[in-house]
Amino acid sequence: MIYIHVPFCQRFCTYCDFYSEIHSEQKAALWGDAVCAEIRRRNAEIDDRVKTLYFGGGTPSVLPLSILSKILIALDETGHGGPYTEFTLEANPDDICARGVGYVRSLLALGMNRLSIGVQSFDDTLLGWMNRRHDAEGAREAIRIAREAGVQNLSIDLIFGLSNLSDAVWEATIREALAQQVEHISCYQLTIEGESVLAGMLADGRYTQADEDQCRRQYETLCRLLGEAGYHHYEISNFARPGFEAVHNSGYWNRTPYVGFGPSAHSFDGRSRSWNENVLTGYKRTKEVLSEEDAAVETVMLSLRRDSGISSETLHGICSAEAIERLVRAGALQRIGDRYRIPEDHFFVSDEIIRELV
Ligand code: SF4
Repeated sequence: MIYIHVPFCQRFCTYCDFYSEIHSEQKAALWGDAVCAEIRRRNAEIDDRVKTLYFGGGTPSVLPLSILSKILIALDETGHGGPYTEFTLEANPDDICARGVGYVRSLLALGMNRLSIGVQSFDDTLLGWMNRRHDAEGAREAIRIAREAGVQNLSIDLIFGLSNLSDAVWEATIREALAQQVEHISCYQLTIEGESVLAGMLADGRYTQADEDQCRRQYETLCRLLGEAGYHHYEISNFARPGFEAVHNSGYWNRTPYVGFGPSAHSFDGRSRSWNENVLTGYKRTKEVLSEEDAAVETVMLSLRRDSGISSETLHGICSAEAIERLVRAGALQRIGDRYRIPEDHFFVSDEIIRELV
């Protein structure tokens, strides 16, 4: 599994504090050379057992195709080139609209087989407040262009749990997402990230956090409407038409080893986690070997995010039988055959359930 972090955006969203810089062709060229050099240097770390490639960001869709090609050639030359089981690229709707069908066809020709579009909302007022580049019509148009180009595995991201997102607007957004008939929907509850503009707005009183009841209602509406439409709720924040569950992201939750290239990218080799520094080139890597206890806690946390849960043997090997029993009696854990999982109606409080276990 290979992750490539593309640290460029055209502007910054209110809620985001990912490492990213304003895109320029010059910076992108420097970054591309640094990533290719890193691929050559660390190619022995790439584990091809799950053969996925994921360009995330930032905004990978701002990259010139020539730089994308250079990176794919570097992967080819080190013996880890395509075809990939899953090759995802994250895109901003505005880039898809500006670059058009030809651009998306070129991505498909390069081997991309899954496009993840950052829609976030179908409400123009909210998109403006988020400082997104696109409006709702731009999001619809980007989906239309992707389909016309031939994308058959399309994912969109949505955000809920904002105090200025009414239940009615949220429901309309979900219905609009369903009308688009995409294969995959990721829905994240807004979190206030430390370095984001929103954190500043919260501190000086320009933003008030949504209360828990509102977040819970919006999550329940999401689960209900997507369930009725036949989506598989396979992870707390992820829904897929059967057969379109994300392979790459599922690997993260299974603790499959992956290598991350580019500034701020994270890697996991099965025993240790490492992360690159947040600078465009010349970034250093910090490595942390996980203790057995850390690895066990991670296994519980990541497994219980998924509807497939965790094997009974593993859970009992890590957590106290008393805590497991208590949660089962409370309906917060469900035993199915030789596995335990958090039932969907308790996903919203999964953090508390996991805290009780570990
Ligand atoms: S949400 Fe995406 S587009 Fe917005 S600032 Fe963050 S990385 Fe850039």
